[in-house]
Amino acid sequence: MPGWVFNIFFNSHNISWEVVTPLFLFYRCGIGSSDTEICLGQGHTANFGLFSAMQPLRHVLKAQGSPRWGPLTPASWLLLKNFRAHGGLPSTANPSPERQEDGVPKDFSSRLATGPTFQDFLRSASGPQEKPSSPEAEDPPPYLTVDELLGRQRKVYLETYGCQMNVNDTEIAWSILQKSGYLRTSNLREADVVLLVTCSIREKAEQTIWNRLRQLKVLKTKRPLSRVPLRIGILGCMAERLKEEILNREKMVDLLAGPDAYRDLPRLLAIAESGQQAANVLLSLDETYADVMPVQTSRSATSAFVSIMRGCDNMCSYCIVPFTRGRERSRPVASILEEVRKLSEQGLKEVTLLGQNVNSFRDSSEVQFNNAVSTNLSRGFTTNYKMKQGGLRFAYLLDQVSRVDPEMRIRFTSPHPKDFPDEVLQLIDERHNICKQIHLPAQSGSSRVLEAMRRGYSREAYVELIHHIRESIPGVSLSSDFIAGFCGETEEDHLQTVSLLREVQYNMGFLFAYSMRQKTRAYHRLQDDVPGEVKKRRLKELISVFREEATKANKTSVGSSQLVLVEGLSKRSATDLCGRNDGNLKVIFPDTEMEDVTNPGLRVRAQPGDYVMVKITSASSQTLKGHVLYRTTLKDSSAYC
Ligand code: SAM
Ligand code: SF4
Repeated sequence: MPGWVFNIFFNSHNISWEVVTPLFLFYRCGIGSSDTEICLGQGHTANFGLFSAMQPLRHVLKAQGSPRWGPLTPASWLLLKNFRAHGGLPSTANPSPERQEDGVPKDFSSRLATGPTFQDFLRSASGPQEKPSSPEAEDPPPYLTVDELLGRQRKVYLETYGCQMNVNDTEIAWSILQKSGYLRTSNLREADVVLLVTCSIREKAEQTIWNRLRQLKVLKTKRPLSRVPLRIGILGCMAERLKEEILNREKMVDLLAGPDAYRDLPRLLAIAESGQQAANVLLSLDETYADVMPVQTSRSATSAFVSIMRGCDNMCSYCIVPFTRGRERSRPVASILEEVRKLSEQGLKEVTLLGQNVNSFRDSSEVQFNNAVSTNLSRGFTTNYKMKQGGLRFAYLLDQVSRVDPEMRIRFTSPHPKDFPDEVLQLIDERHNICKQIHLPAQSGSSRVLEAMRRGYSREAYVELIHHIRESIPGVSLSSDFIAGFCGETEEDHLQTVSLLREVQYNMGFLFAYSMRQKTRAYHRLQDDVPGEVKKRRLKELISVFREEATKANKTSVGSSQLVLVEGLSKRSATDLCGRNDGNLKVIFPDTEMEDVTNPGLRVRAQPGDYVMVKITSASSQTLKGHVLYRTTLKDSSAYC
């Protein structure tokens, strides 16, 4: 059955019947015997032993040298073909396509009816394996040598698009490549390998990357023959979403690695070095890169992002994330704490816990906690999936992280409004080093649209949560995401979003025009019926209302003293410094001498990583301005505020 392309998921040692059944059908119909790669569907897991009937695949996988696999590479494919050609295929695993008496090949259903039985399948899968007759068949030579898997000092240029998760993923990818002997360069012209860490959330994000690829194509074709050929790789969500289209469209991409395949980068690059295209776009049920401590390079030397969970199970009807980043899974608490401790030792003063739905965190790796507590959702909120139980939840993690270093600020993004039980709110209120800042993506102010988006809450439940948060955490700073022009959004729905913006008066906002994404529920079931011009106009209106309200909200801080973590010089003026307040707003102030309250009599100038108290004198929708009062510590400042 040429042209069938499938993937195998080998992420754990369990097998589900959903997996056994299609495998059995392939077996019975002889499908595994043609030029076919085998797929068990997104997120399925398979027991290696049950594949034993598929000896050639076992050998290919073994030769690839890693327990997790993407589509078979051309090299693997050759290996598979050679193996078959040398008679290594057990006959039960590879019934040759049967023919009817008239010589015409049997169709799928008649092959299914007359093929070997399910019992034969199980017997051949679990029975003792015959030893292959030739030593080469038992242990085929690896097709990549250890030397080829090393970076050989090749220079990698990494470029990041999209969200903070991608910023963090870039560092994970780099950490893996660095260990393999690659060097990093920030000069594109110097690079031997260019890797784009991509975003698929909206059409515009993908368009930017296609444009970039066209520029890189010029660079690649003009490269002097005296240099090693330039290799170009697409990493992350776009690799996951578009797969073959990327390899085929511009014919200049050498490798694809989905968000769960970064450990495979050295192998993929080694294949690319040999002039072949290489891809691994497998999604995993358990990959969290827990042991890969990224080399931290965030917006300044003072703060870092720490990834605590990946993927998403929410399936909001507009969103591609569950398809590009896979199922929700959390990193073990112990490894998160280890990373935060290391960052504290390096002198960093702020960590932001990162995840697609960071507060849905649930570490189920510690068996003793697995049946413990039931899950508390925010009042009036529901999930799109069957409620999960047990595990160590976000409140526990937040508590532990905040205890690591009293001088380290803790933030988290992006949360989902459904997962704000009281224990999380109380903790934020109590702990001096957990920032009183909550991102609460609403998406729309219309209950009708929220239902179509499958957000699991109404406008009323959301507004009640806002009130509850403001009561629980006085002075909390709030931000949100909104989408303009979702399927079926009427002018009335839009006005309800406008009114929510006015009612809540967010301090920060992220607003987007709706962009239909393939695979999503909205794509299959709803009409993208708001014309582009209307989306643009509504988005403009939302932005303008948001700015108006944020300016009002931020102006309430004029006259107050705010603790600012200094990041460095302001981009706009060499005589000003810039930092962030507790609510994560940018604060600009002149670089002048001040008193250090922990060393009375000492006059100092603020340095990146210092906490300084700033008197706010003016505010806009995005920035506060003021003058510095004194240098202090996070702990001491909480006593004054
Ligand atoms: N998990 C978070 C939540 O539940 O709100 C948000 C993460 S999502 C990656 C970031 C934001 O992108 C969303 O909050 C939404 O506003 C926006 N977004 C997602 N899909 C979109 C689409 N198809 N068109 C426009 N904006 C979209
Ligand atoms: Fe996308 Fe919804 Fe998951 Fe957020 S919660 S990542 S918007 S599917």
